Amino acid sequence: MIVRCSKCEHEAVYLRRYTSERLCPSCLVHTSVDRVRRAINRRKMLREDDRIVVGVSGGKDSAVLLDIIHQIEQRYPQTEVIPVTIDEGIRGYRDQALEAAKALSRSLGLSLVLRSFEDVFGMSLDDMVDVRGDTGTLGACSYCGVFRRKALNLAARELEADVVATGHNMDDEAQTVIMNIMRGDGRRIGRTNRLRMQPIRGFVPRIKPLAVLSERDIVAYAHHTQLPYHDVPCPYATEAYRNDIRNFLNDMEHKRPGTLTAILRSGEAIAKAIASTSSESFYSTCSTCGDPSTTTMCKACQLLDKLEQG
Ligand SMILES: [Zn+2]
Ligand SMILES: [Zn+2]
Repeated sequence: MIVRCSKCEHEAVYLRRYTSERLCPSCLVHTSVDRVRRAINRRKMLREDDRIVVGVSGGKDSAVLLDIIHQIEQRYPQTEVIPVTIDEGIRGYRDQALEAAKALSRSLGLSLVLRSFEDVFGMSLDDMVDVRGDTGTLGACSYCGVFRRKALNLAARELEADVVATGHNMDDEAQTVIMNIMRGDGRRIGRTNRLRMQPIRGFVPRIKPLAVLSERDIVAYAHHTQLPYHDVPCPYATEAYRNDIRNFLNDMEHKRPGTLTAILRSGEAIAKAIASTSSESFYSTCSTCGDPSTTTMCKACQLLDKLEQG
């Protein structure tokens, strides 16, 4: 028996569990773009004359993000979309992903900007891991995350971008909210859920338009649109804590579809409550690089310092 699409006459190939929509390939794509467009409007993420830097890793999330932003921005000729890839410098890992990022950018008529850890910090992630030896208590992921954020912000500033879009999906964001709560770091939810309208001087505002699509949605979208992407697990990936949370949330979402969206709503509510009681004075300036920081020296400079000692 053929199952019909909830939106049209065609055969459904995908069930979006958290909305109970059964979708044909074409409606899957359209409803995904619509969900992102509505999220952008609701949270006022973009303006009509923005220069938008899109962080592109070569993986499926950022491929779908770039494809959707490109479609949405077709309506606004004054906007500019610039895909940026940060190459961490992990031997044999980034090459194919980089090729995918280039191919996708080319197919959309965009030119990819490339920045490497080597250019920005004077050493690749491989070098950092070598130097660190086993003296470090932080895994490679912590280094990588901190430096990638910093490199992307620097690139966006150089490119005079108004906003940076990243490909964090619903699953990533729900995991982050729960991780922050379970670590007793609820205030961080305020920082990672800031609205575009609450910028911090020195940081190009960040938006996460893909947080309204689940990882399953994104896999299905990339599959049906045949986007070029290359997802390989990073050889350094050791995020054991996140993996535990992911497994737990996957299980909950399976039993009670809509759990992830409910967590994200809670995250927004917490961020809103924090924003109404604290101000930018929460941030000071890093004594070394001058970037905004919640400590006297920002995390990236602290880590670079440690690496130089090593
Ligand atoms: Zn349909
Ligand atoms: Zn600094």
